[in-house]
Amino acid sequence: MRNALLVYPEFPPSYWGYTYALDFVGKKSAMPPLGLLTVAALFPEHDWHLKVVDMNVEPLTDADLAWADYVFTSTMIVQKNSFYEVVRRCNQLHLPVIAGGPHPTSYREEIKHEAGGVVSHFIGGEVEHIFQDFLTDLLHGTAQEVYEGPRTQNKVQTDITKTPVPRYDLIRLEDYNSMAVQFSRGCPFDCEFCDITKLFGRVPRTKTNAQFLAEFDRLYALGWRHSVFVVDDNFIGNKRDAMRLLPAIAAWQQARDYPFGLSTETSVNLVEIPGMLDAMADAGFIMTFIGIESPNDAALATTVKKQNTSREETAREYLLRAIHTIQAHGIEVTAGFIIGLDQDTEFQSHIDFIQQAGIQQAMTGLLMALKKTNFYNRLEHEGRLLHESSGNNVSVELNFVPELDREVLIREYKRVLRELYDPGLKHYFARCLTLFDHLQPRQRLVRIRKAEMRALMKSIWRQLLSRKQGPTYLWFLVRVLLRSPRMVPNAVRMAIMGYHFEQVTQQQIAMDDFKQSLASELDTFQRTVSRFAKAQSNRIGEIGLRTQHLLARVRTQYEAIHEDCRYGVWDTLEVFQQSVFTQYLEAELHVFKDTVSRSAQAHTDRLDDVRTCVHHLFTRVQAQYDQIHHDVRSNVQDTLDTFRSAVKRHLEQGFSRVRVTGDAEEKVC
Ligand code: SF4
Repeated sequence: MRNALLVYPEFPPSYWGYTYALDFVGKKSAMPPLGLLTVAALFPEHDWHLKVVDMNVEPLTDADLAWADYVFTSTMIVQKNSFYEVVRRCNQLHLPVIAGGPHPTSYREEIKHEAGGVVSHFIGGEVEHIFQDFLTDLLHGTAQEVYEGPRTQNKVQTDITKTPVPRYDLIRLEDYNSMAVQFSRGCPFDCEFCDITKLFGRVPRTKTNAQFLAEFDRLYALGWRHSVFVVDDNFIGNKRDAMRLLPAIAAWQQARDYPFGLSTETSVNLVEIPGMLDAMADAGFIMTFIGIESPNDAALATTVKKQNTSREETAREYLLRAIHTIQAHGIEVTAGFIIGLDQDTEFQSHIDFIQQAGIQQAMTGLLMALKKTNFYNRLEHEGRLLHESSGNNVSVELNFVPELDREVLIREYKRVLRELYDPGLKHYFARCLTLFDHLQPRQRLVRIRKAEMRALMKSIWRQLLSRKQGPTYLWFLVRVLLRSPRMVPNAVRMAIMGYHFEQVTQQQIAMDDFKQSLASELDTFQRTVSRFAKAQSNRIGEIGLRTQHLLARVRTQYEAIHEDCRYGVWDTLEVFQQSVFTQYLEAELHVFKDTVSRSAQAHTDRLDDVRTCVHHLFTRVQAQYDQIHHDVRSNVQDTLDTFRSAVKRHLEQGFSRVRVTGDAEEKVC
């Protein structure tokens, strides 16, 4: 028997992760790693022991790695930093890493260059058809470096009616806020920026009713009673099959008094399919995510999102009507918006639309060009591609040249986020009220259990009693109480979500503000140093003081960023600190060279003075070094070593005519 450790690397905070809301309900992660649990079900039980470590709920320990014979990972691009860390740790222990998921599927070459370690085997695309062959090769020691699923080889697609029930028994269900199941793969549309159709094709494949309900049965048998997310990229991509499944789900739910509150993702043409909304509401769907992207016709046309437009009315009118229709069936709409689509020239229309539609959770992100998408190819053709994307769609970064001026676009993006999730959540609560005006819940609303009571108490403590959100939260609760008291539990749930969205927004903006502040600080510092150099001024004390204040200031700004998000500014901080520290050391070295050569010309043999001079020099340098935050201190170690060597070299050269013993050199250096 072999031991396979299935590792799910950590996500950075994002709107999707609900990190800051999970704590209210005592959960550790929003959803389980469904892909890994599905892969786990493909292992032959007689050959393998399995263990799952989801790093979003527990750390990956040395003991886990010591247990493993092989480490299997599944990642999206946004998890790459954590994934690379896993690869490096495994390499140190000579543990083979087998990487799958969308990130290794599309970015294999980049991983080889960036990971700082070696991935032994890549499994691209859908794994079901190739996994047994891979395992056989692995056990025989003949496994290749790369295995590609049928889709990535442009062959016939994986038949997902053969996909086994995911191994939910390998995780602690109570760590998660929601469970995840999948009904279909693929989407009939082909939005320009989306990589779903490149990974799963445009002909959606679906599971059978019995197969899908077997997953419900498994979760129910394991004791799960709460949210279940049907993770399809477009649940109604195959509308005939969705309509075939929905009555079966409704019957299953009804027989058990609706134990699962269902959520999913759909395209907005949901409202065009006769009977679909009623069928979804009957099945217990209470939320759907829709990619709205923009309320503007021209931008939607450019990004080939024709399903969001209509011949009879403007996109804005059509989308508003559609969203209110969905809400009227008791289904909340959360939606994705993109800032930076070609032809989108202003963004107040986005804010106005989101407010009017009552989309309280608006996932607004900067457009990014993902590999393999039509958008990526177009940008490459137009010479507008800058670099690969980080995959975090709330980070303030553009990996292409936008149509609008870059600075304007980023400023507008931050303005949109600040308005949607202002610190007091005024606009957010206004959207919740609009939603309640349209929402006609079919099923029982939020069930009040211990977890909900605990969440309520935390929400009162953190939000209602806070100066920042307290007044608006109180106003919101009073309005809900007066208008529809039965919505109060839902209102509290939404307030908690709002807390999360506000936190993520502030963190992302703080990170970008920090980066911009570093750029301007560096510019000022460089000008100061060169002014002193031009004036041939020997005011090293003043440069040192400025350096120390600058590094201390930046350190404070850095510490103001939540530690979960600091990884996002490491690169910028590293470049900044290295540049400042290097310039400061150059100035010190310049002065030191002068001192040494003056002393040498004077044929002084007063080594004690030289020692004191060097001692003071290193004390000053150490003080500057200490101002550098320990998170990135190791990055300036090389610069410091180079400086030390230069000091030593100058001492050797300067005092070659006087007797400076090796021992003395060691002492002074
Ligand atoms: S509808 Fe959604 S899943 Fe389908 S191609 Fe467009 S963005 Fe992708």
